[in-house]
Amino acid sequence: MGKRVEECVDLIIIGGGTTGLFAAYYATMREMKVMLIEAQEQLGGKVMQFLPEKIIYDVGGFPDISGEALVENMIEQAKRHQPEVVMGDFVEKLTKVNHLFQLETAKGHIVTAKTVLIATGSGTFHTKRPSEWPNLPHSVFKESVPTTLMHKANYEGKKVVISSNSKVGVGWALFLEGLAKEVTLINPADKFLQVKDEDIDSLYKSKVKVYYQVEMTDFIVEGQELTHIEIKEKGQRIVMEANKLLTYHGLELQAVPFEQWGIQIEKGRIPVTPLMKTNLEGVFAAGDIVQYPGKTTLIASGYTEAITAVNHAHLMIDPKATEQLYSTVIYR
Ligand SMILES: Cc1cc2nc3c(=O)[nH]c(=O)nc-3n(C[C@H](O)[C@H](O)[C@H](O)COP(=O)(O)OP(=O)(O)OC[C@H]3O[C@@H](n4cnc5c(N)ncnc54)[C@H](O)[C@@H]3O)c2cc1C
Repeated sequence: MGKRVEECVDLIIIGGGTTGLFAAYYATMREMKVMLIEAQEQLGGKVMQFLPEKIIYDVGGFPDISGEALVENMIEQAKRHQPEVVMGDFVEKLTKVNHLFQLETAKGHIVTAKTVLIATGSGTFHTKRPSEWPNLPHSVFKESVPTTLMHKANYEGKKVVISSNSKVGVGWALFLEGLAKEVTLINPADKFLQVKDEDIDSLYKSKVKVYYQVEMTDFIVEGQELTHIEIKEKGQRIVMEANKLLTYHGLELQAVPFEQWGIQIEKGRIPVTPLMKTNLEGVFAAGDIVQYPGKTTLIASGYTEAITAVNHAHLMIDPKATEQLYSTVIYR
């Protein structure tokens, strides 16, 4: 693919999790020209990928909020001053060229920035599909099959099939049991991985139908709507009605090559100063990727770290800028 060279921005944020999203809002509130690059096709990082249906109780201002709703709010806030947001592209290279940073992505974009904020969490997690996935028909439908439990209302009153070999699938089945008309859990293996005994007990006490040693062999799709799934259980063919399919078969981590970028790493994290500076002048870091004494890996910690990082990136570009601002004063 041809390489595209973009105009220089004040700050590039690598990673669109909760930390990167809040940083994008804060930096644009401070009138910085910002580009955020997220490897996944969705924003929200781990919260959206692993906790969309979970209720979060420890984010200030929200007595309780689902992961999905929190991220929706954060996207709305981040977009208030229109940062440029690129999704589905992984930042592979970072080099310093004449006081500017040049970043290169997997899709061949080359972007330059005066400063950089690394908000990559633990890297990018790609959810795996069941092993028989490539042999199954309906590629357009398959693309639309979720690997996270979002948009819960979509499952209300539906016949849901979950293909999973792990505790995640068991958790989804138990969560959806009260909402869906029928929940069926199909596992290619003869047991679930990493699942607690009490969850297995709850599963057997529930109305969820469970099949083991199952292979999916066909889908019946009308338009793009699923109507049936064909499975083979220990060689025996079973066709079941199904309106919704979800799959979860573990994760593959795409780690960020920080050493190649010249960024110091200790035990997988980036050590930062109290101003959230990395060892590379002009490159800041915040959120789950950083390490310093007293670091907590919480959503709210990422917010304050992002504020510190953005304020000091701003000061590097404009040493006369104020160290911090109140939003109540900016929007007066
Ligand atoms: C099971 C579980 C429960 C939790 N419960 C809570 C809780 O109740 N309360 C709480 O406060 N916190 C909780 N957390 C922690 C919280 O999820 C994290 O602190 C938070 O998600 C960190 O956000 P982040 O933006 O720093 O990183 P992430 O959410 O990991 O986001 C990083 C983003 O960067 C992207 N990325 C990585 N590398 C690249 C690259 N090279 N190019 C482009 N994009 C890239 C990734 O795709 C990802 O989207 C929980 C975590 C887990 C795992």
